[in-house]
Amino acid sequence: MSSPEFQLTVLGTRGSVAMSGADYREYGGSTSCYMVQAGEDTVFLDAGSGLLSAPGSYPKAPVILLSHLHLDHVIGLGMFPPLARKELQIDLYIPFCETVESARLQLDRIYSPPFWPVRLEELGAELRLRCVPACFSVGRIRVETMTGQHPGGCMVYKLSCAGKTIVFATDYEHGGESDARLAAFAQNADLLLYDAQFAPEEYERKKGYGHSTAEKGLELMERSHAGQLLLIHHDFKSTDRILLERENKLGTKRASYAREGQTIIL
Ligand SMILES: [Zn+2]
Ligand SMILES: [Zn+2]
Repeated sequence: MSSPEFQLTVLGTRGSVAMSGADYREYGGSTSCYMVQAGEDTVFLDAGSGLLSAPGSYPKAPVILLSHLHLDHVIGLGMFPPLARKELQIDLYIPFCETVESARLQLDRIYSPPFWPVRLEELGAELRLRCVPACFSVGRIRVETMTGQHPGGCMVYKLSCAGKTIVFATDYEHGGESDARLAAFAQNADLLLYDAQFAPEEYERKKGYGHSTAEKGLELMERSHAGQLLLIHHDFKSTDRILLERENKLGTKRASYAREGQTIIL
């Protein structure tokens, strides 16, 4: 099989909490995780329960970038098979930390007894914690970052390779000074992933929760001249029927709600 040039696979679309059952088959029930591949390089954006649907082996050790440490974005780490493989060195990027030691302390609050039986660093692989710099590279993939608007903060990532660009803006609330920065940051992106957890009327009741709407995603797509919009972080109450209804109202083929398992080749 030939190596992908640059592609994104949706592994987990759900926000806040994982869901299962007949109402969640089309768009998926696993929480936030997206796999970006470029040749032999693999980057995971977030490590929600979707991480557990990732492939079993990799040409090079995968690298994990976390948007923030809310549980729906990290709950897959504890059972991710590569973290138990002693021969692997895995880089895990933690946003908003000043030192590796502070990153370790934050992760240990989640992954240690009584909340979890073992610390991540005891699983077997060499886990290399890194604080997210403003820009860096993972093999052929260039990574740039921007701080979004979300309770406790959330990192927006831009991944570029071979002249193509993906912007990942999960857990983002519109309406602040960051909107103009995000429009500039996402300028001419080929693929824009944007938090559309709430319908507009829901958003009115949930201002300050740190999430946005499809309508604001469409506005951002136009403002940034992004090629394609993938709406993410589906609410746990948003069944397939609800998301399909909303998708049919988007009014453009360039925008859709993310479906677990779909791959977009750039
Ligand atoms: Zn979330
Ligand atoms: Zn969050």
